[in-house]
Amino acid sequence: MESNFGKDSDIMSISINEIKEYLIKNKVKPSFPRLKVFEYLVSHPSHPSADDIHKSLVVEMPTLSKTTIYNTLDLFLESNIVRSLTIEGNELRYDVDVSNHGHFKCEQCLTIYEFDMDPTFINPSSLEEFTISERNVCYKGICPKCQSTEENTSA
Ligand SMILES: [Zn+2]
Ligand SMILES: [Zn+2]
Repeated sequence: MESNFGKDSDIMSISINEIKEYLIKNKVKPSFPRLKVFEYLVSHPSHPSADDIHKSLVVEMPTLSKTTIYNTLDLFLESNIVRSLTIEGNELRYDVDVSNHGHFKCEQCLTIYEFDMDPTFINPSSLEEFTISERNVCYKGICPKCQSTEENTSA
């Protein structure tokens, strides 16, 4: 998919100009804060929260408010260039990878891993009359890295 900053594209090497073009293509006016927020999301595929984004960008842009961050993220969501997910509690996390994938959260190192899957495969007949706005598959457990350190310390 050409218009998707998915995991197939070389995410880390994306330039601010490419982000600008991408926003314009998706009918988002590329203001400076929008460019910076999108750049942050692209360079931090760890599913940051609005807080994470604000904390990091305010260093560079002291006048940047949290409201701007929220408004920008809402706009990205509406334009379908970002998706949101709730992994823990009610804190929304943001993902520039809008392709179908599930998440696995390691309860030890708190890393969020991604795996290929199509959540639209799960179509419970009991939800036939519901309008679905978010499909979210999230597993929790211990990642292989943490499992091996556990073995090492207990041995
Ligand atoms: Zn993801
Ligand atoms: Zn882990």
